[in-house]
Amino acid sequence: MTIILPVLADQLSLDLASLKAVDRADAVILMAEVMGEAGAPKHHKTKIAFLFSAMRHHADALREQGWRVDYVALDDPENSQSLGGEVDRAKARHNADRVVSVEAGCWRLIEAQRSWGEVLSDDRFLVSRAWFADWAEGRKRLLMEDFYRLMRKRTGLLMDGDQPTGGQWNFDADNRKPPAKGLVYPAPPQFQPDDTTEAVLALVEARFGDHFGDLRPFARAVTREQALVCLADFVETRLARFGDYQDAMVAGEDGMFHSQLSALINCGLLGPMEVCQAAEAAWTAGVVPLNAVEGFIRQIIGWREYVRGIHWIAGPDYESRNVLGAARPLPSFYWTGETEMRCMAEAVRATKQNAHAHHIQRLMVLANFALLAGIDPAEVSAWFLIVYADAYEWVETPNVIGMGLFADGGLMASKPYAAGGAYINRMSDYCRGCAYDVKKRTGEGACPFNSLYWDFLARNRDRLGRNHRLLRMYDGWDRFDPAEQARIQAQAAGFLATL
Ligand code: FAD
Ligand code: SF4
Repeated sequence: MTIILPVLADQLSLDLASLKAVDRADAVILMAEVMGEAGAPKHHKTKIAFLFSAMRHHADALREQGWRVDYVALDDPENSQSLGGEVDRAKARHNADRVVSVEAGCWRLIEAQRSWGEVLSDDRFLVSRAWFADWAEGRKRLLMEDFYRLMRKRTGLLMDGDQPTGGQWNFDADNRKPPAKGLVYPAPPQFQPDDTTEAVLALVEARFGDHFGDLRPFARAVTREQALVCLADFVETRLARFGDYQDAMVAGEDGMFHSQLSALINCGLLGPMEVCQAAEAAWTAGVVPLNAVEGFIRQIIGWREYVRGIHWIAGPDYESRNVLGAARPLPSFYWTGETEMRCMAEAVRATKQNAHAHHIQRLMVLANFALLAGIDPAEVSAWFLIVYADAYEWVETPNVIGMGLFADGGLMASKPYAAGGAYINRMSDYCRGCAYDVKKRTGEGACPFNSLYWDFLARNRDRLGRNHRLLRMYDGWDRFDPAEQARIQAQAAGFLATL
């Protein structure tokens, strides 16, 4: 009896649930590069190269552990170019009668997997889909902070008995500093592509050359060993300042003090618990402050698990939610970066070069602009899924539809993350070199974020006006005299007409 174990591109973990569930002697691991996944939608070139290279290296690592691996390369002439097609072909090749896979991170694939055979829960996440659904059941509000505290107790991370280390659950009040002058931002490790990666880079150039994004220089970690080097480097060189400058943005500094580990965690080369434990150990050793470690661990056992839970309880139609009725098409500068708004141009440039942008660029620049300008959430979500190396539906959709665009009407966030130019000016150095004047609301050269912000509030008053967290903002709007309100709305309309 042969069992086929399909291993997907984001399941590159040696302790994957399916590998623990069968006898190695009976199993053939199937890994396949298919156009059906890499080519539609047209993912960033670097994202495809990263995943294909990591898959090829992972196949070698599995073989070294004694697994039989059947690897179907993209240019294999027999390749059916779909995962379902490859499972069928593998079953026939190996005369297999069972298929055991681990649940994928999107509704579309999970449905397909059920037709292949058994589907196991993905125990690389710290809570199962069923556990999160139970937690959410009957709650009026799904507060991340409540979930996070439970996760601290469940994992024991930063706990003294049943109390949080340092007497507080959350040290965010110590974070959110604007960028200070003279800070040096240590770059993450760079890795010279080996022959496997070079072959993948050539393949991506040849087959996906018209996709968005820069492919070279390519210096990403693609093996478990390299991923561990990245983790150690983050803990040693950037974690100490992660908390303080978590929300800061600086032109030309693409990673700041962020870990830049998301793509490695999401594809399985790093485990969420080991990453948190490495950060906690640095606190225990006294080399990093508590606000940094708590803030970092919260992102992983809190936000990461929470958004995944939201994705699954929200159902397959989550991506099509659009409670604010936003319908404008995505402006072309999300692809080209050609805009005089320096904050947007910088965020798109980083995205294009690195297939990565840090959280505040994603939330307070790219998603904030789309929210204020009323861009169709489905188009925004499609863009975010394509451009980031860490993007998979389970994590991208809730972050975009829920957190970034409030298109789910508040299932995830208690108010929209909407901000005018003042926020971006406070947290970055972008405005100093921008063609627009961040201090101006109306008139020539006024920062578009300012009029768009007020226009957003005014045009969504029916929907948002009673949200108690926005009352102060609506008070602000009401204090403008009608002539100023009209000028602001005309300014916003004039700008939107140029998109
Ligand atoms: P750090 O700032 O170092 O944070 C540490 C880790 O915490 C991350 O590596 C990640 O694993 C986790 N994390 C932090 N915030 C979140 C969050 N909101 N949701 C899930 N995990 C989180 N993250 C993705 O992994 N994939 C996405 O497709 C994605 N799309 C996003 C879209 C929008 C509009 C927004 C606002 C956020 C998105 N995020 C996404 C969350 C977050 O921006 C990235 O995880 C983070 O920028 C990755 O960089 P980092 O590894 O340096 O993170
Ligand atoms: Fe962005 Fe406005 Fe600042 Fe320019 S002035 S960088 S558009 S916030």
